[in-house]
Amino acid sequence: MPQGKAAGLPCVQLDENGRCRLFGRPERPAVCAHLRPEPEMCGSSREEAVAYLARLELATRPACGPPGAAESSSASQEPP
Ligand code: SF4
Repeated sequence: MPQGKAAGLPCVQLDENGRCRLFGRPERPAVCAHLRPEPEMCGSSREEAVAYLARLELATRPACGPPGAAESSSASQEPP
């Protein structure tokens, strides 16, 4: 995925069984090959793992809008 993966979409390299088609191959992205999963990431079910990924995608989404909008927007979303 030369332009990266959009949030909320599965990687195009996942097969119908949810397995990586590139696992063990040199063309697998370095970020994937170096990732060391932690129990917190995996949870106890696929649903918990997917929910963790969704939280990561939300926390790391790019800022949009005019310069400074992300800072003021995120500041207003801070919990009290
Ligand atoms: S390990 Fe990387 S390349 Fe493979 S399916 Fe997951 S995100 Fe895609």
